[in-house]
Amino acid sequence: MSEIRLNKSAYTHNLTQICNKAGGKERVILVLKDNAYGHGALLIAPVAKEFGIKFCAVKNEKEAHEIGEFFDKILILSHIPNKNESQNFIYGINDIYALNSVKDGTRIHLAIDTIMHRNGLCIDELDSAFDVILSKNLKLEGAYTHFRASDEMNADYFVQKQKFSEAKVKILAFCDKFRLLKPIFHSHNSAGVERFSDMSDDMVRVGIAQHGYAQFNDSLNLQPVLSLWAQRISQRVLKAGQCVGYGAKFCATSDINIATYDLGYGDGLLRYTGDGDLTLANGKRLLGKMSMDSFSCENCGEMVCVFDDANVWAQFFNTINYDVLTKLSPFIDRKWQS
Ligand SMILES: *Cc1c(COP(=O)(O)O)cnc(C)c1O
Repeated sequence: MSEIRLNKSAYTHNLTQICNKAGGKERVILVLKDNAYGHGALLIAPVAKEFGIKFCAVKNEKEAHEIGEFFDKILILSHIPNKNESQNFIYGINDIYALNSVKDGTRIHLAIDTIMHRNGLCIDELDSAFDVILSKNLKLEGAYTHFRASDEMNADYFVQKQKFSEAKVKILAFCDKFRLLKPIFHSHNSAGVERFSDMSDDMVRVGIAQHGYAQFNDSLNLQPVLSLWAQRISQRVLKAGQCVGYGAKFCATSDINIATYDLGYGDGLLRYTGDGDLTLANGKRLLGKMSMDSFSCENCGEMVCVFDDANVWAQFFNTINYDVLTKLSPFIDRKWQS
């Protein structure tokens, strides 16, 4: 069977680097959405807990329930109000409608729209938000923003940081006035943590960096955690002039020993059409079109490592490592190796 192997020493190394840069384990919100970026949330969560992470973020309530037992606090980033919000979770509020729609007394973090215009409340909506918070007795435990271009060299970051500071001032004044507990603030994602030495917010939200992929520079010396392995289904000699797979996309010019392995686009791999050189971790190329459940290549033995660095596939398909990783089917077996 194909499998995903997770390297525990790489993972704890990455967490150590991230926490050192952020200024402590208590300052890191670990983002474990989308099955922990395809790594397997139920494998990652207990190891993160053991390491000392207490706060994580996920996409929705389903994910929060899945790993709830491992963390003291869970922030749900993409919650859609349902009037059934749980006191066990903290809900990201992504616009004024959401604030009006969640159940009274819900624990919330306000997302602040500082330029990205994807989610969050604008600064000039804050006053009416405060009214709603008071009237619904919502528990304002935090506020955050998201930088749209931490991984690029441009001025957006500084504009956003300035706007977020303005929002902080307003929020703190509001909490002060009504004697509410001081909320926590967070803004940096992985690229922000790599890039900036200014960790002036209370916390950071780190996703991809824990898995070993730098987005801005390699200042954290991160190591990829995941490797993807396929098992041989069959083997044969492809004789000179014979072609393998759909559409006869690869034809042998001399006899070669080929094998077919048990991973394909049905398992979440991006679909290779047989054009261009897409290589496995050992440098051998895939031969012919990928099938739903398999691919063919030179016979590499019983197990072959498809990739141990998602950037190889990301670059080939002109996408990002997040895309390659999160697509990996949850049905692939996953295990830690120490
Ligand atoms: C996914 C996400 C993150 C994590 O981003 P990385 O680039 O993986 O560190 C942080 N904040 C929000 C709001 C997100 O949606």
